[in-house]
Amino acid sequence: MKCYNCDVVLNDVPGEISLAFAIAGCQLGCRGCFWQSLQAASVYELSDELFVEKLMHVRDFISCVLFYGGEWQLTELVSKLKIAHEQGLKTCLYTGRQFISDKICQHLDFIKTGAYREDLGGLTSPITNQRLTSLVTGEDLTHLFQHVLPISGRRAV
Ligand code: SF4
Repeated sequence: MKCYNCDVVLNDVPGEISLAFAIAGCQLGCRGCFWQSLQAASVYELSDELFVEKLMHVRDFISCVLFYGGEWQLTELVSKLKIAHEQGLKTCLYTGRQFISDKICQHLDFIKTGAYREDLGGLTSPITNQRLTSLVTGEDLTHLFQHVLPISGRRAV
């Protein structure tokens, strides 16, 4: 599993402080995709060992692990989601797809579904096609993003 970068983010999972991993290899090709501009950038192998190392650096400050993509590498993604849960962290996946295998969903607390459409905007847009759902309660949490002012540089994911 190749990773573009990882960073702590405050606004991408409601109520959670997340360590977010941007995974390389999405083939959906959404127009305006931020990550496609990084295709030529160097990526690194995100082994389970490196994943744990990165988690441990910030474990005391985060409540969630977020993956921007990675569902195309089911076994590797599930392994990392299990590690996160074992650490007492919640888990979230941002996917451009509408549906994801139960083999992944059973290890997720939240999921963002829907491809990025420039004409509809991301989660902060009131007309977005994307949805952020709690897989624990089944609640659609998308409305929570629409009370947040867009942050400069917010990415299409
Ligand atoms: S916006 Fe997201 S789903 Fe669309 S191509 Fe980029 S990474 Fe893939």
